[in-house]
Amino acid sequence: MSQPSPCASIVTRFAPSPTGLMHLGHAYSALFAWRLADAAGGTFHLRIEDIDPGRCRPEFEDAIIRDLTWLGLDWEQPIRRQSQRMDDYAAALDKLARMELLYPCFCTRKDIAAEIERSGAAPHLTGPGPNSSVYPGICRALDAQTRAARIADGQPHALRLHMTAATARAGPLTWHDRAQGEQTATPEYFGDVVLARKDVATSYHLAVTVDDAAQGVSLVTRGTDLFASTSIHRLLQALLDLDVPEWHHTPLLANEDGVRLAKRDRAYTLQAMREEGTNPDEIWAMAIRQIARSAGIKGGA
Ligand code: GLU
Repeated sequence: MSQPSPCASIVTRFAPSPTGLMHLGHAYSALFAWRLADAAGGTFHLRIEDIDPGRCRPEFEDAIIRDLTWLGLDWEQPIRRQSQRMDDYAAALDKLARMELLYPCFCTRKDIAAEIERSGAAPHLTGPGPNSSVYPGICRALDAQTRAARIADGQPHALRLHMTAATARAGPLTWHDRAQGEQTATPEYFGDVVLARKDVATSYHLAVTVDDAAQGVSLVTRGTDLFASTSIHRLLQALLDLDVPEWHHTPLLANEDGVRLAKRDRAYTLQAMREEGTNPDEIWAMAIRQIARSAGIKGGA
């Protein structure tokens, strides 16, 4: 793996956030991506998605590396860490700003909830989060002078994508999932998404899109909980003129009670299994069995 064959084209990645201990589901995702690359003589990257300083911890990154090494995986060096790539995200934001597709948003969660309540609009449910709602556009309407004055005043602000303008510019888009076939991108479903947070000058959607392109990832493998988000990534690729990979969204693992595995499920952490003397070879088989058991669990749970 460390010496990909010159004609190999498949590039996969595993991109965990170091916010907790990895469990069987992460092992499955990592092994899945690694094996696809390995079987094709391709390249496998480990990427640490650590943009959230409040939730990411170095000890969890250490644990990720320990667990993956225990599973027998290897990856290209150096490891890409998102916290060290803020210039790349700034460049992408700059490009979108020059296309006049971004605007500053000063709203708090409370402002947004109040506006949704006031307008009587039923929150338009989106993607993976049951409580996520489409931004009602309060700051989209601010004039240039007000925006400049509030920024000069030091008011914290996020940067949002002007979704209507962005989709008009990109035109109709499709993407291909190896498991579910050709998909029509529907990023408008998410409204004016945040591309740079108030506290961090990027967001998951922007960072993952920029990084996959920067690393030449040709096949993005990840859980079905991120299936809907792919529409946003596809749109950003079109706007930023980036290469378009294929995707393969894989089922999420659930416990015996049918509840999706979470980082807090100690019994399923790789660390616990290692300490109990589980053979790493058994992890892949266990993950496959668990998937069969979770067959009734839908991705967006
Ligand atoms: N960092 C994300 C997570 O840990 C995965 C992102 C992706 O694979 O696109 O859930």
